[in-house]
Amino acid sequence: NATPTSWFLTEAGRVKDLLKPRTRFMHKGHFGHVLLIAGSYGKMGAAVLASRACMKTGVGLLTVQVPHKTCHVLHCSVPEAMVNIDRSDLMFTEFPDLSPFKAVGVGPAIGCRSNSVLALTDLLDQIGSRPMVLDADALNILSNNPALLEKLPENAVLTPHPGELKRLVGPWGDDFERLQKVVAFCRKYQVVVVLKGAFTTVISSNGECHFNTTGNPGMASAGSGDVLTGIILSLLGQGLSSMDAAVAGVHIHGAAGDLACAAEGEAALTASDIVSHLGKAIVALQ
Ligand code: AMP
Ligand code: MG
Repeated sequence: NATPTSWFLTEAGRVKDLLKPRTRFMHKGHFGHVLLIAGSYGKMGAAVLASRACMKTGVGLLTVQVPHKTCHVLHCSVPEAMVNIDRSDLMFTEFPDLSPFKAVGVGPAIGCRSNSVLALTDLLDQIGSRPMVLDADALNILSNNPALLEKLPENAVLTPHPGELKRLVGPWGDDFERLQKVVAFCRKYQVVVVLKGAFTTVISSNGECHFNTTGNPGMASAGSGDVLTGIILSLLGQGLSSMDAAVAGVHIHGAAGDLACAAEGEAALTASDIVSHLGKAIVALQ
């Protein structure tokens, strides 16, 4: 069934209500411990950006799985994060025991090499009902190995840009047909898809479509999507449902991009600027 069930525009007031209030006696344990699997040798920027965004969105604890040779990049760039060092110098081939983690994010710049395909397969076998967000190369691995789609946990959040989406669902004629293909995909695999671009749309496993109005074309540059992955992972770790984390994360990401754009202009806007404005974007919701 490819028919969307209902349509929503995300409002700032609703996003504000989804964020967990921080009361006087709370500690980091209340805000979740998440695992991020990102980066490979020569492509560690994605891991750094997603990690920084994850911390800046309020998660309690973050562990990042990185290749052996690259661990100093993470330690020096994101001192708040703990690092789990892969036996591979270059790529994602293993991950720690999942029991401490409230949510898992996987994909930015991990590559699609066979050892990483095996590791992702193993991850999907062990993930259980844990919330997860899959982006970038994790999505490309799914496209190359469609049998893995059956292993996705219910309500996994997938965050494709149009190129990644095309590899997942095949080509479309117009934007409405694209939406119908995503709705059918979400129903079939019982997942949440964040279809990224201007007016990013979050589609639930039963075909609800939530349109986002924040964000600007200055965000069309390298690393923007990695920042979004970190934000959504952070919100999953803080206990939001998959749909709420996706809808709120997309809104906050765009709002931070709009503040960054006001400060820097569209041309100069970088993914790091989006991260730098996350705090103000979240405060502005309150
Ligand atoms: P990625 O291609 O994975 O780096 O993701 C790009 C990110 O930037 C997504 O979150 C998009 O929604 C956002 N983005 C890109 N272009 C625009 C645009 N023209 N307007 C608003 N957001 C955009
Ligand atoms: Mg991306």
